[in-house]
Amino acid sequence: MSDRSPSSVNGGAKTQKVGTRLAHAGRSPHENHGVVNPPVYHASTILQPSYATWLESRHPDFEGYRYGRVGTPTSRSFEQAVAELYGAADAVAVSSGLAAIAGALMAVLKAGDHLLVSDSAYFPTRKFCDNMLARYGVETTYYDPAIGSGISALMRDNTKAIYTEAPGSLTFEMQDIPAIAEVAHARGAVVLTDNTWGTPLHFDPLSKGVDIVIEAVTKYICGHSDVMMGVIASTAEWAPEVRAMVKMHGNCSGPDDLYLALRGLRTMGVRLKQNEATGIALATWLESRPEVSRVYHPALPSHPDNALFKRDFTGACGLFSFVLKPVPKSALAAFLDGLELYGMGASWGGFESLILPGDPAKLRTATTWDDPGQLLRVHAGLEDPVDLIADLKAGFARLNAAAADAAA
Ligand SMILES: *Cc1c(COP(=O)(O)O)cnc(C)c1O
Repeated sequence: MSDRSPSSVNGGAKTQKVGTRLAHAGRSPHENHGVVNPPVYHASTILQPSYATWLESRHPDFEGYRYGRVGTPTSRSFEQAVAELYGAADAVAVSSGLAAIAGALMAVLKAGDHLLVSDSAYFPTRKFCDNMLARYGVETTYYDPAIGSGISALMRDNTKAIYTEAPGSLTFEMQDIPAIAEVAHARGAVVLTDNTWGTPLHFDPLSKGVDIVIEAVTKYICGHSDVMMGVIASTAEWAPEVRAMVKMHGNCSGPDDLYLALRGLRTMGVRLKQNEATGIALATWLESRPEVSRVYHPALPSHPDNALFKRDFTGACGLFSFVLKPVPKSALAAFLDGLELYGMGASWGGFESLILPGDPAKLRTATTWDDPGQLLRVHAGLEDPVDLIADLKAGFARLNAAAADAAA
């Protein structure tokens, strides 16, 4: 196995369901004394046995390992698994989801290029475009996530890439990615997607016209709130550029984290079934509450993009948002501060439930967000939904009491 060559096991694996492949992808027990899981190789220096092999190891097509930063059997095992799950030519593990976004964008763009980015993209993605890419002479235009094939009106001669994310961070708009990809490819542009919400289980980006997939491994692949990692999976056309860029950045992941990510991957299917069911149960219950003005969950029939969701996705994860009818800050604090099962903190995709206030109005430029109530983003963890609903119900009782106090 080379540290550069594409995975040898992708493509054909598409005959089995992704859920099945989660158990087997990237593993070769019989190359490792029959041990089920791959070994954790802690490596910087990797010795070559002879002068001849040393010279070979300098060659770009070298089939072995040459230096810890550019690949070990542990990193290749994880990368092969992800490449196989996405049906990609190759996947590269990096130090965080944001590093995957940055690495993928830098691999496709150069000074003078124009980039289109969805207005509901993960906020640090926008920061990277507006600061880093701008500094290096790449211009970014944000577009309405609902644009679909209308994106052709925004294409310029120098538009090199279209960046998508479905559903959108915080606000959960779907995107017509196949329609966008058709326009992009007709004009010679590359399509990227952040598939952290979809995971390979619920959205198959390469079959929908995407060239480069980004996933924050930190979220569902790892699944236990204890690892930062990202991955970029690409078509054969883009895989070498992406790997070369990541290598130039010196970006890599630690062996223990790679091991945890591989372990998380094995159980992602069963975890996500529970996250999905609980998320839908919570969202449906929230829709019935008088304190709630709207629920933003693409799998609910009430979501404006539900048809698009059902067309392109095979399931949901546990992340969605809802908006409260306007209440005083003291009532919001009473609601949030007494919750027993929902932690308040960044990230998601772990075994535990989370709730986080968000303010989408401040984070967009191509569209407006005029829902006046407080948006709350919920991650449905693996707790029993009965207890999660009871916790929210008690929260609404506190909210109503505090609102009545404030009005008195
Ligand atoms: C969290 C997140 C990222 C970034 O992942 P990190 O590992 O935290 O850097 C990227 N995209 C989306 C949609 C995310 O939610």
